[in-house]
Amino acid sequence: MSAHKLFISGKWVKSTSHQTFKSYNPATEKIIGTFEAGNQKDVEKAVAAAQKSLPFWKNVPAPQRAKILFRLARLLERDKEKLARALTEEMGKIISEARGDVQEAIDTAEYFAGEGRRLFGHTTPSELRDKAAFTIRQPFGVVGLIAPWNFPIAIPAWKICPALVCGNTIVFKPSSDTPRSAIQFVQLLVEAGLPSGVLNLVTGTGKEVGLSLVKHPEVRMISFTGSRETGKTIVQNAGIKKVGLELGGKNPIIIMDDANLELALEGVLFGAFGTTGQRCTATSRIIIHQKVQKKFEKRLVNRVRRLKVGNCLLSKTDVGPLINQRALEKVHSYTLLGKQQGAKLLCGGSSLKGKGFFYKPTVFTNVKSNMRIAQEEIFGPFLSIIPAKNFAHAIKIANNVSYGLSASIYTENISFAFKAINEIESGLVYVNSSTIGSEVHLPFGGIKGTGNGTREAGIEGINEFSETKTIYIDYSDKLQKAQIDEFKLK
Ligand code: NAD
Repeated sequence: MSAHKLFISGKWVKSTSHQTFKSYNPATEKIIGTFEAGNQKDVEKAVAAAQKSLPFWKNVPAPQRAKILFRLARLLERDKEKLARALTEEMGKIISEARGDVQEAIDTAEYFAGEGRRLFGHTTPSELRDKAAFTIRQPFGVVGLIAPWNFPIAIPAWKICPALVCGNTIVFKPSSDTPRSAIQFVQLLVEAGLPSGVLNLVTGTGKEVGLSLVKHPEVRMISFTGSRETGKTIVQNAGIKKVGLELGGKNPIIIMDDANLELALEGVLFGAFGTTGQRCTATSRIIIHQKVQKKFEKRLVNRVRRLKVGNCLLSKTDVGPLINQRALEKVHSYTLLGKQQGAKLLCGGSSLKGKGFFYKPTVFTNVKSNMRIAQEEIFGPFLSIIPAKNFAHAIKIANNVSYGLSASIYTENISFAFKAINEIESGLVYVNSSTIGSEVHLPFGGIKGTGNGTREAGIEGINEFSETKTIYIDYSDKLQKAQIDEFKLK
């Protein structure tokens, strides 16, 4: 068992709290390591270090800042297998998905390294003669990054890479379920040559470390990914600073009666049970045309029952454990609720005996759109099937939730596909593909209760982590007044 520290001002240090916490392997319940339980004082030190390094870092030319990210990408590639195995051990996703998590970080580092030679502003004509007008991008200053556990390498990369290339300095607070992956990621940035103080890491609870960061007056921006409940607390405590929120989902797949059912089946299995259903974009509702409901259910249950749940390091395993005991209890409480509210359990519905937080892939049918299992984020291997009479009814059901992250439709009808793209209330829409699997050069984020309008990844990731400054240069040698001077052609 290893002991890990905080990273402040380029040094690995102990917390002033003199307290530690443990992280566990969710498949075996064995201890992964001990970590410093940071506190408000540690956050203050980390913010001070980030502030001190800001004047230097923001004046490093962006293409030079980007070189660190290019090096990071190579180091992530070098250590991909080691990081993936450690990640699987720490949060329980199957090894092929853990490799995908690291690959997403590699792609992200490369994409934002490329942005170092762009960071485009706008150039536009002035309404006055002999006057130039354009915009430049500038960093916010010190930014606070708060991450969840379900993508322990990819989500920190989504935040840290654009924040760095834009010239911000950082205090990073990872989830207490995956602190080791966060530390490994920071170690690679140090190896890539990131100067002291530019990135600081404080482990500890959300209430102590997270909230201190959110409330800190010198932190100019918070980027948060996590649950809606925590998101609400953050907004209430942030004061006047920018807050980026990437919250939960209740993502539907609509299956029309003309759909390729075999294709839809593969998409549903991947979307609902990949990462044990612990993705913000996981498929949690199937909205199926009633004409094909029975046929599809039969094929689905047959496949779900054959999914292999267990050792996530074996390539034949399909589904790993849930993250912790709390998550296991939460998922099971929804099984009880589904039965209580009159939905029909088709398969699963209980945990596996023995060590680890394993839950059988669970499918309910004849679910009504307003039942709690069809409304609330469960975050586990749990699927609700809701029959629909026709396309309009399916869209109505899809939109009858307070979240709006990802959605999908399986149809061979181009008109249904385009209507769904327009009418579904979500930030991502897939056609003939599952609700999961976004790419790093496209924006990612949701509407309604999933966020507050910010987006990560792609060019939107640069918007997220930079402020726009507007510049006017008047070379007419006289006072020109916009909107007031009357323009004369001659
Ligand atoms: P969580 O909200 O419990 O925790 C997220 C982070 O916030 C952790 O680091 C936690 O310590 C911290 N935190 C907790 N309380 C805090 C507080 N009061 N102030 C500041 N920080 C606090 O979420 P989780 O269980 O780690 O992650 C699962 C959730 O994340 C799900 O709802 C999932 O949908 C969502 N998620 C969203 C996206 C997205 O991009 N939309 C991606 C992944 C996960």
